[in-house]
Amino acid sequence: MKAKYIFVTGGVLSGIGKGITAASIGNVLKNAGFNVNIQKCDPYLNVDAGTLNPGEHGECFVTVDGAETDLDLGHYERFMDVELTAASSLMSGQVLQQVIADERAGKYLGKTVQIIPHVTGAINESIQRTAEGFDIHIVEVGGTVGDYEGLSFIQAIREISMDVGRENCVFVHVVYLPYLGASGELKTKPAQNAVRELRGLGIVPDILVARSEYEPPQEAVEKLSLFCGVEREAIAVLPNAKSIYEVPLSLNNQGIGEVVMSKLSLGAKKPDLTDWKQLVQRATDTSADVVTIGVVAKYLNNQDTYMSVFEALKAAAWSQDYSVDIQWIDAEKITTANAAELLASVDGIVVPGGFGTRGLDGKIAAAQYALKNKLPYLGLCLGLQMAVVAAARNAGLTDATSTELDPEAAHPVVHTMDHQKGKEATGGTMRLGNYSCVLEKGSKAAKVYGATKVQERHRHRYECNNDYRESYSSWGIQASGLSPDGDLVEVIEALDHPFFIATQAHPELASRPTKPHPLFQGFIDSIISRT
Ligand code: GLN
Repeated sequence: MKAKYIFVTGGVLSGIGKGITAASIGNVLKNAGFNVNIQKCDPYLNVDAGTLNPGEHGECFVTVDGAETDLDLGHYERFMDVELTAASSLMSGQVLQQVIADERAGKYLGKTVQIIPHVTGAINESIQRTAEGFDIHIVEVGGTVGDYEGLSFIQAIREISMDVGRENCVFVHVVYLPYLGASGELKTKPAQNAVRELRGLGIVPDILVARSEYEPPQEAVEKLSLFCGVEREAIAVLPNAKSIYEVPLSLNNQGIGEVVMSKLSLGAKKPDLTDWKQLVQRATDTSADVVTIGVVAKYLNNQDTYMSVFEALKAAAWSQDYSVDIQWIDAEKITTANAAELLASVDGIVVPGGFGTRGLDGKIAAAQYALKNKLPYLGLCLGLQMAVVAAARNAGLTDATSTELDPEAAHPVVHTMDHQKGKEATGGTMRLGNYSCVLEKGSKAAKVYGATKVQERHRHRYECNNDYRESYSSWGIQASGLSPDGDLVEVIEALDHPFFIATQAHPELASRPTKPHPLFQGFIDSIISRT
């Protein structure tokens, strides 16, 4: 069978949860037994998300095959419990690079190369290729319909509906109903205009998803249906929810799964959302006991920067019927002198990934404190590098550091791999994607994982300096995970500590709301068992 398509676009404003909507539709359909793939189209001119500022744009999500992508892929993986590949992220820069390379290679010889049909054709091709082998392919177009830079994508999805047949496509438009305080009303006019904009580009939406701060009254939904020309049954409302994980249930309760299946002639299958319902119950349980985790970080004003880390912490706590209170610890403020005070209220700390020198001293100070005071510690990528520096400093090597912080360091316990030298400012040049790791039998990491061979996703340039590996035991740590050839340190742990494990990888990317990652689970469990 050829794949059927669901295209998700957005109107009125950005940031209203289009990614969550696309992921939730995927969740419902996957739980109904369909083989579903999903892809994000981003209209930025970047070639990938690796060079975007995570403080502004949110975390860079890395796929198993090493693509640096938009954080929406993280929502997709978590909601659909799938591992996506580079093919699931299509950015304008990537498309243009391809078209221009083809032009230089003479592929279009004699022809005028144009946005339509060449750029749209390249997008169309990428989408149809990614859909191959699946029952359903969901495509989310980033940005808001009408944005200048997104037009090629809108045209491309319209072309696909002509190629594969309109009856094999469902167009979902996600709109926003603003609340007008003066009249106490949710207004539908911006949504009506957004639908008109979409129709103006040749796409008639089959389904409307209306986000709002409050539950809209029946009349507002009737009005939307009448003015937008979308059947009442094909409109779902999504007032603010307690948890984003409620969205699949909400869409399903409103019959959106059935509407999609019927429009795509896929029969009527009932999704099994039992596990998901249990997850939502745990995620929204306000009476649960709380674990307080300090996240030592430099980007303190945007939750999205550490999205997967937060979701991984929550998943691990929920699985034990706990909830988690995440406290930001400003990496630029914490020092060895004030660490006790700043960390007094937390049960454990996470040092997440990061780049650049800002806040590194604070992260080292936090790790030094956690080592000395037996405070549970989970280090992720940079969090491993800073943990090694901290252990060396605690053991008396006070000028130990990473060459990321001091390129001329006398004791570079973390340094750049030779083949990374000189590539610090360029995109796509790091150690990226899945790498294997062999864990030492009997180590805490092996116990927590319940395995001695694991694979995790990576995204970094610096590595532990092997010249110092022999000193680890005198620093009170152990390299408990190595690359299969023994050359690279992948995991370290403190020898005499309730829980101090750090990994060179990003295990948070593999955590699922209903299947927490073993390292996060071990970290949270070590805290729960202490209290
Ligand atoms: N900046 C460090 C490196 O490049 C850590 C990267 C990270 O935490 N993702 O190795």
